[in-house]
Amino acid sequence: MSAMEHFICVQCGTQFSETVNPPLHCPICEDERQFVRHGGQEWTTLNRLAVDHRNRFEEEAPRLLGIGTEPEFAIGQRALLVQSPAGNLLWDCITLLDDKTIAGIDEHGGIRGIAISHPHYYTTMIEWAERFDARIFLHADDRQWVMRKSPRIELWEGTTLPLWDDLTLIHCGGHFEGGTVLHLPSVSRGRGSKGALLTGDIVQVVQDRRYVSFMRSYPNLIPLGATAVNRILETIEPFSFDQIYGAWWKANVVSNAKAAVARSAERYLRAIGADRRSVRRSEM
Ligand SMILES: [Zn+2]
Ligand SMILES: [Zn+2]
Repeated sequence: MSAMEHFICVQCGTQFSETVNPPLHCPICEDERQFVRHGGQEWTTLNRLAVDHRNRFEEEAPRLLGIGTEPEFAIGQRALLVQSPAGNLLWDCITLLDDKTIAGIDEHGGIRGIAISHPHYYTTMIEWAERFDARIFLHADDRQWVMRKSPRIELWEGTTLPLWDDLTLIHCGGHFEGGTVLHLPSVSRGRGSKGALLTGDIVQVVQDRRYVSFMRSYPNLIPLGATAVNRILETIEPFSFDQIYGAWWKANVVSNAKAAVARSAERYLRAIGADRRSVRRSEM
């Protein structure tokens, strides 16, 4: 008799429900926002991945701990552990979870909840939630992309979801229908912090870190339309923030981030021949 396994797609890092044989397809990679690797669909498991990969911890800011896999695996994002008095929130997720990672996170106070910007970072969220006894907050508009179901997943609807300690999930859409960013009221990066946005690649911090951008598909270079970009701008407008922490190591806008978003959106919309719709304050 063959054992059941939770197979993991090598290209996007997503773990699937238990099966005897690997699934035939990865719907996330077959979607136009990702791609199937040149050599065809490949699968691994958490145990196999742990043989030649490890996770690195590094603070991106005080009480904002980055966790990323080396050598890089799948899409290559790093997660962020938001250390907060009423409980830590893991923002976005990565596939590899091993004993060293568990010990390191326990030292930092464990995980109360997991929130994920979009399906490309769902990875092994159920493994993390089970190990740390955490809830998972996903926007309901991306429910079709959940490849391993679990009662730990809480699908939320609407524009914002307040968590604890004034942490707020904001539904922006864009890159994915359920695209979500996280607002932190402050990051202890010096005096007078106005807060921060953790954006995954819903608002993508680009190489020139005074700028961000917006795409429907990053690997396939499909731009995001003006309506979707304007919607992102409008949903984050009521929130004050100085910094943006993107999806990759050091992909952060460390000051005047709100102005950076405005400047970037203007440049982007000009490039696709569209205008920024004026945001009427009375609507907020
Ligand atoms: Zn995949
Ligand atoms: Zn993505």
